Amino acid sequence: KAKQAGRNTVCIYDPGMQAEIATQVMLESQLREAIVMQQLRLYYQVQVDHTGRPFGAEALIRWQHPQHGLISPSQFIPIAEASGLIVEMGKWVIDQACAQIAAWQTDPKTSELSLSVNISARQFRQSNFISMVKSCIQRHHINPNALRLELTESVLLENVDDAVHIMTQLSQLGIQFSLDDFGTGYSSLQYLKKLPLYQLKIDRSFVNDIVTDSHDRTIVRTIIAMAQSMYLGVIAEGVETEAQMELLLNNGCRRYQGYLFGKPMPIDTFNQLLKNSFG
Ligand code: C2E
Ligand code: MG
Ligand code: MG
Ligand code: MG
Repeated sequence: KAKQAGRNTVCIYDPGMQAEIATQVMLESQLREAIVMQQLRLYYQVQVDHTGRPFGAEALIRWQHPQHGLISPSQFIPIAEASGLIVEMGKWVIDQACAQIAAWQTDPKTSELSLSVNISARQFRQSNFISMVKSCIQRHHINPNALRLELTESVLLENVDDAVHIMTQLSQLGIQFSLDDFGTGYSSLQYLKKLPLYQLKIDRSFVNDIVTDSHDRTIVRTIIAMAQSMYLGVIAEGVETEAQMELLLNNGCRRYQGYLFGKPMPIDTFNQLLKNSFG
């Protein structure tokens, strides 16, 4: 009887849900091929200092789907995470990023640029993560100082001691770590001070209303003060207006990323943006 009831619950007919599951399953199998078929793209979003001068970029993945067009990471990263495909995909991202860093480092005009790469939980916890990153750096002969890895609080808090170990190993090579979406997680200062971090990245949800919402302004001020007291750098993401940038600057945040300076763009467009800034 219980078995019957169980079967009844899973067999409830819901065309919407069925269609959604079918789409997920289809996307997963297509995602498997996307790497081999070279449908993945890295887009680059500029990061600037308080004078508006670019000092680096964040690499953001896109999927150029043959039928559906350009798909955003929020639509396929969760599928990649759940299926384990994220490991291979993440490796591809780091390899591409290192290749791009190598290209920039051959030209004195762009040799100082940094490139940030997002790392997912599953990828970070792979036993060969450290050696994979190392071999990428060696293969492309890059100065590892240019490579920044972005981690979120939830990734780090899963196992703080392991995280510290992995980060320390990679920090010794010169790689720097940013804490992405900062303020949206649950980090305690206790954990934060243990981590070998280079900078905090203020989540764009706080930047968004910084001009109109005094609570968000207070949160942003607190994050900046916290970063300073721990000798960490700080960068704001999602900066869309001059007013937001000015408020951030007046509170001591001198690095920004957001549509005000540029949307994520293909590498050719990005290199053109650099040319326009650096000559
Ligand atoms: P994130 O790392 O926090 O990246 C910032 C997101 O904010 C990007 O969305 C970017 O396009 C968007 N953004 C930047 N400036 C502005 C702005 O001024 N206004 C608004 N409204 N949005 C802005 P995107 O490219 O869709 O990426 C979403 C998320 O997907 C990323 O959030 C990151 O968590 C994940 N992701 C992207 N690429 C990768 C990757 O290669 N590997 C992994 N594991 N995750 C990735
Ligand atoms: Mg990021
Ligand atoms: Mg972020
Ligand atoms: Mg985010």
